[in-house]
Amino acid sequence: MNCPKCPNVPLQPARVRGLEVDQCPDCRGVWFDEQELARLLLVKPAELKPLARGHGSASLDAKPGRCPRDGDALMRVRSARDREVVVDVCPRCRGLWLDGGELARLLPE
Ligand SMILES: [Zn+2]
Ligand SMILES: [Zn+2]
Repeated sequence: MNCPKCPNVPLQPARVRGLEVDQCPDCRGVWFDEQELARLLLVKPAELKPLARGHGSASLDAKPGRCPRDGDALMRVRSARDREVVVDVCPRCRGLWLDGGELARLLPE
């Protein structure tokens, strides 16, 4: 699977507590499949910190992405937790893409 935002950059598996997600080594964005998201809620926020590195960039955030699984255009959705954070959701498989830095902003302090 390639990064939805970076051309031709394959996502790398990243493991957190038995949960395997896919992260872009370049922009540090993270892809969650629908079932991974549900399991993510069981992981303590502190354990997600290694995934939350990266600062994000407004230009990447604003860039429309394509689902790495099925190629559908990702929808931009404001996060319920922080309305300033716009996440990318696939309308077909319900996967979620967080740009670099967005996970950190969504984790509780
Ligand atoms: Zn990327
Ligand atoms: Zn999809």
